[in-house]
Amino acid sequence: MTPPNDAAAKAVIAATARRDALAPSSAATMPVARELFDQLMVPCFAPAPFIPVRGEGSRVWDQSGRMYIDFASGVAVTALGHCHPAMVRALETQARTIWHVSNWFTNEPALRLAQRLVDATFAERVFFCNSGAEANEAALKLARRWAHDRFGPDKVRVISTMNAFHGRTLFTVTAGGQAKYAQGFGPNPAGFTHIPYNDVDALEAVFRAEGGDDICAVILEPMQGEGGMTPGTPAFLQAARRLTREHNALLILDEIQSGMGRTGALFSYMQKGIVPDIMTSAKGLGGGFPIGAMLTTTEVARAFGPGVHGTTYGGNPLACAVAGAVFDVINTTEVLDGVKARHALFLEGLKAINARRHLFRDLRGEGVWLGCELDDPWRGKAADVMKAAGDAGLLVLMAGPDVVRLAPSLVISLDEILEGLARLETALNRALA
Ligand code: PLP
Repeated sequence: MTPPNDAAAKAVIAATARRDALAPSSAATMPVARELFDQLMVPCFAPAPFIPVRGEGSRVWDQSGRMYIDFASGVAVTALGHCHPAMVRALETQARTIWHVSNWFTNEPALRLAQRLVDATFAERVFFCNSGAEANEAALKLARRWAHDRFGPDKVRVISTMNAFHGRTLFTVTAGGQAKYAQGFGPNPAGFTHIPYNDVDALEAVFRAEGGDDICAVILEPMQGEGGMTPGTPAFLQAARRLTREHNALLILDEIQSGMGRTGALFSYMQKGIVPDIMTSAKGLGGGFPIGAMLTTTEVARAFGPGVHGTTYGGNPLACAVAGAVFDVINTTEVLDGVKARHALFLEGLKAINARRHLFRDLRGEGVWLGCELDDPWRGKAADVMKAAGDAGLLVLMAGPDVVRLAPSLVISLDEILEGLARLETALNRALA
């Protein structure tokens, strides 16, 4: 091919093809204040008055240099704390190698991560995407398509639980069964039946009704996180497994919050005596780098042939390289046993606070994933505690209006646990005075 003659075009091409680093634009370094959020951003969030700018392990600093102990990890995301050296190394190495290829190609970090997940779980096949909602969207679509291909067009009903949380797409808010997230967007997808969580009789009743032949899947969190930190009972989870098998339906476990070591097992199903047909993961999987995954068996995966489902960034090399590093740190006896030891310490500290202040009706949870349910007359005040915690230099979460939720890093230090609990007591004293 002959080179073009146009000298101006050649100059432009040469300039834009430069491989040396460009100086950062002034927009990249301009000072920013929290107030800008209210001017610039879609107001679907109401962020705290301070802006975190740096993190290291379980500590975060804001713009003024104030340090916060992190008992939140984003929302149960930064499973290894902030800027873990193994993750930084993986990201830097991958950033100098290749950032993106389309799904017309595969890539090495994605294949390596898929191999790790398949070797460590029930799964034989993996689909990568960008978030938890996208992983659940894929799981629900896969279940419907699998049932359609095997049993015809009428097997479409999905059984889900009230108070569940599966994400913010229209399909997943509909699955979630919380009116506050699903109302006002209709028409919502049809074909969902919601039953109370942990209600074995209700579950059996939906399968008994008309033979349950139109049910293609049951979707469950092994423990409801956003919905109030309610652990699934073994009887409920096992009934879901048995009934789906008996009725040619699939069991989808949403392990987006419960997985990747948070409960002290690599995935929570491993402690519950059940094996799902489809499992979703996100949050801790990338430790802070956006990634989601849907895992399943070869037989079920067959329903997603080429072109049936997809996503531009699924299996992104940067995300998969970081997730691979996260996986290698978490999937060790040392880290998983450490989660159980930390659980005991947290519970002991929280019980001691409660013995002094009598604030909690219940303390529950698994691993480093704890719910502190406020007692009368403090019910409805979890948001006040969260705000007071920020003022006391501590990041915590809530799970509904009555439950203060803690989801620290899996490798948080003993000193940070003790310091954080002291700050929590200060916050409780201030918020619930
Ligand atoms: N499923 C569960 C159990 C979750 O806790 C969440 C997020 O909180 C999601 C799904 C949605 O994940 P994402 O926000 O990454 O879409």
